Amino acid sequence: MTAGSDLPAGELSAWLLRMRAVLAGQGEADVPCGDCCACCATSHFVHIGPDEERTVAVIPRELLFPAPGLPAGNVLLGYDEQGRCPMLAADGRCSIYAARPLTCRTYDCRVFAAAGTAADNEVITRQARRWKFSHPAQDDCDRHAAVRAAARFVRERAECFPGGRAPRDPVSVALLAVKVYDVFLAPGAEAGAAGRPWSDLEVAKAIVEANDRFEVARAAAPASYGAVRQDEPDG
Ligand code: SF4
Ligand code: SF4
Repeated sequence: MTAGSDLPAGELSAWLLRMRAVLAGQGEADVPCGDCCACCATSHFVHIGPDEERTVAVIPRELLFPAPGLPAGNVLLGYDEQGRCPMLAADGRCSIYAARPLTCRTYDCRVFAAAGTAADNEVITRQARRWKFSHPAQDDCDRHAAVRAAARFVRERAECFPGGRAPRDPVSVALLAVKVYDVFLAPGAEAGAAGRPWSDLEVAKAIVEANDRFEVARAAAPASYGAVRQDEPDG
């Protein structure tokens, strides 16, 4: 893989479908990372949930600490003085790949390429900007434009969201755009039910409602990535 060269991210609509499934708890991200390990080496805390017993079992206890603000059992895996996850081996591979946290299983830096936004880290932003989606059909173009419009709206109209529900961090903004982009598909925000363009407040309300519908559906469907495959290869 040549540093800085474009990387094929796949067809936009197909990626979007899969990413939404991952966010809904169905499956894992399938990023063709190649020799990149940027998100394992850029000073990120990795959340591990109380039901991830297999993951906790393979990480030395001294590397885990309680996650602030979350119920008991939620822990964080930190990073070393170089910003590297302590489970990252010298060869750039995850030493606990088969039992890696769900946070790692669901991370896909292509979300920033889809949303047209920067990541929370310059190295990941550079990697994300290498991804190029293909748009073989008009539908791919329309959905991509809608995801970008959603991300732009969330970033630029945060004051319109009731109760401060607009996320601020780059990951959450991009993921929210993936979950609610259909608000920005025509007629959606363009026309609205009343046949006139929605106000920013109405768009924000529609985003909140779309996100709530997504989360209700996610909660109603048993997650399918919780059971880690025992035959999953390392590395
Ligand atoms: S930054 Fe992207 S390509 Fe690099 S390891 Fe993370 S998910 Fe893979
Ligand atoms: S647990 Fe593995 S995949 Fe997750 S950040 Fe650490 S090295 Fe990367």
